[in-house]
Amino acid sequence: MRPVAGLDEDVQDRLGAQPRLRLAHLPTPLEPLERLSAELGGPRILVKRDDCTGLGLGGNKTRKLEFLLAEAEAQGADTVITTGGIQSNHVRQTAAAAAKLGMACELVLTRVVPWGGPDYELSGNIQLDRLFGAKLHLHDGDTDRIAAMESLAESLRRSGRSPYLIPTGGSNAVGALGYVAAAVELAGQLGKAGEKVAAVVHACSSGGTQAGLTAGFAALNPDVRVVGIDVDANPPAVAAEVRRLAGEVWSQLGLPGSFQDEKVLLQPGYAGAAYGLPTEEMRDAVLRTARLEGLLLDPVYSGKAMAGLIGMIEAGDFGSDDTVVFLHTGGTPALFPYREALEA
Ligand SMILES: *Cc1c(COP(=O)(O)O)cnc(C)c1O
Repeated sequence: MRPVAGLDEDVQDRLGAQPRLRLAHLPTPLEPLERLSAELGGPRILVKRDDCTGLGLGGNKTRKLEFLLAEAEAQGADTVITTGGIQSNHVRQTAAAAAKLGMACELVLTRVVPWGGPDYELSGNIQLDRLFGAKLHLHDGDTDRIAAMESLAESLRRSGRSPYLIPTGGSNAVGALGYVAAAVELAGQLGKAGEKVAAVVHACSSGGTQAGLTAGFAALNPDVRVVGIDVDANPPAVAAEVRRLAGEVWSQLGLPGSFQDEKVLLQPGYAGAAYGLPTEEMRDAVLRTARLEGLLLDPVYSGKAMAGLIGMIEAGDFGSDDTVVFLHTGGTPALFPYREALEA
């Protein structure tokens, strides 16, 4: 795992020059999953606990918000507007961060997932959005989220407010910097522990996590494969978005040359019928990980990502001497709204 000459310090310097707030508990732990690894008989699995970023029950969006909300503060914003589904983890972490920073928070929530019932409509993430004092605007599933945020922003501006808009999942080039920083943190932990890893595997949806991690590892440690597991049931569009964002991050950091598109590895086949709909493999992965490790995954993202990792191990994608990192991106508040999908 030889870093490109000088690039690791370069990445850290350039990242250090970007405006950033401190919102997350960092570094997140890196721990072995011994019983799961043994049961699968495959590679050694380490889990990177980004479910433990701390703010408002944690998750991967908090790292992105450190960069996004620094930009919001620099622009003098007093209100954050963002968007997602009813059970969006990104929306919940944004509402928590806005509360902590003393900003108002307005949420455009769209009913994108054909799943319902009182648990889904009222508990989990949406319950917490309300607890954090955010204002909710509920829309149909086919609503154009950007247009809805923009018209909301326009009406807030007319009443004298200064809104800052964050796209779905916090996935733009600024948000993705959070995962370049995560790559620096993880590469440091692996280096210190003398671990040589073959791959980092995680759930991918709006693309910012994979874009930041892939650009970060391409610069720091190009032997590490970053594998996103598609949970959107739309791999071509998701992969294109990851490539676009990684390219933007690369040039924003002023890294040499250009980002190599072939570094983007997106694994299809584990999303099921649609984003947010449970699968049998997800349920099996959530139950196995809970029962072997006392570790909670979630039904929409990390459960499908673990199903993907298990599937890749069963397909022989890793040797038994390999070590792989499973990046736990959070999402556990969604265990409650999806109670019925997880019952035996
Ligand atoms: C948003 C989210 C992801 C996906 O991250 P992207 O950057 O949107 O691809 C994965 N896991 C959880 C729990 C999330 O909330």
